[in-house]
Order: sequence, then C-alpha cells, then structure tokens
Amino acid sequence: MGERKAPKGAAKDTDRRIGRRALLIGGTAAAVGSAVLARDELARLWWRVPSVEKPRKEGEVDYAGARWVAASDANWRRADRPDDYGIDMVVIHVTQGSFDSAVKVFQDPGHGAAAHYIVRKDGHVTQMIRELDVAYHAGNRDYNERSVGIEHEGFVDRPQDFTDEMYEASARLTARICARYDIPVDREHIIGHVEVPGTDHTDPGPGWEWDRYLRLVRKARGTDTDTGEA
Ligand SMILES: [Zn+2]
Repeated sequence: MGERKAPKGAAKDTDRRIGRRALLIGGTAAAVGSAVLARDELARLWWRVPSVEKPRKEGEVDYAGARWVAASDANWRRADRPDDYGIDMVVIHVTQGSFDSAVKVFQDPGHGAAAHYIVRKDGHVTQMIRELDVAYHAGNRDYNERSVGIEHEGFVDRPQDFTDEMYEASARLTARICARYDIPVDREHIIGHVEVPGTDHTDPGPGWEWDRYLRLVRKARGTDTDTGEA
C-alpha cells in the first residue's frame, strides 16, 4: 500500500481564514474573557461553517458518464475530500446480487454500507455517493476515508457476470478517478475488497481478471487527454 497523501493546500487556506476571522471578532472575544481561549473555540467552530466546504449541487456527479441516484445518508459520512482526507486508492467490489438490488440496499438506511459507484453488466454507471464524501464500503475506517468504492453487478463465483462492457466501463471510471487524484495505476492502489485489512469479504473473487482490468485502466488513462474533471 502506498504512502498516504497529505491534504493539499487545505490547511494553509483554512488557517488564513481562521486568522482573519479571529481578528475581526477579536474585540468581542477580549470583552468575553481570555482572547486566546475564545480564538481557539472560534477555530473549532469555524470548521462547521458550511462555506468552508466545496459547493455542491443536488444530483451532481463526479464522473460525466454516471447517472445520479442518492444513497441513504446513513450509509456514508459527509467529508471534504481530498482536502480533509487524501484519496489514493480504488476498491473493487462485486454486489453478490443484481444491479437493482444493490441500488435498493444502498438506499436503505438500515444497510449501513454503500459504495460510491455501481457498474451494471451492460456498462451503465450509477453514482450514489459523492467522491467528496466517505462511503462505508470497505469495512475499514482508514480505507473508507482514503478510497473510492466501485461495485460491479454479479457474483464472485460467476465470472461470466463480468462482461466486456462492464470491464471497459469500470476501467474508464477508474482511469478518471486515478487522473483526478493522481493515483498510480497499479495493484497497490487499485485493490479488491478482499485485500482490505480485517475484512471477511472475498469480492471481487478469483474470477476477476486483474491483469486485463489494469491493462484497460492504463489504456483509458493514456487516451484521457482532458483534466479529469467530470
Ligand atoms: Zn465488497
């Protein structure tokens, strides 16, 4: 596993904002009591001010080829990646069921888990959680915070479910994610759920053709000449 990326630029910008804010309210703080204490409190509160976070639009996707269907907000945690948590990994999953049933359980607040994307057998891609946010897909807090999770319709013991269309669509999606966060296209950074420490999951299973998948990701990455933005 690779080095975790340090958040880029975020700390510096935010510190500057806290400084400016603290200066503005300095007079009031001094009147209340210890200016230093009040400033520390202010710094903590500042993190909760919504304007610090990136703007979001309802229904917006991170991948231009995806359709948006919102997961239940019980199955993910709001974050501001990659500024609060660096993203250096893609985790490959298999749904152990149909595409429709995966969408349904990710919408169920009682499920407690969901991935950012689901790729259907025909290559259709649905996004259910923004890449900004931490999806509960890997069963490991650190891995959830640093990765993007992609589900694939099918069963681990039925490699015939993994169609050419699915491999190609998923590889294009992963290539775009790797471009966006500067993630190396290799097996240390593109891993299966089975490889996450502490997991009892076996997906994507021995039928998943890793060599073929990485070849397709590299090919898509190579022909990807734009900036990687959706
Ligand atoms: Zn999984």
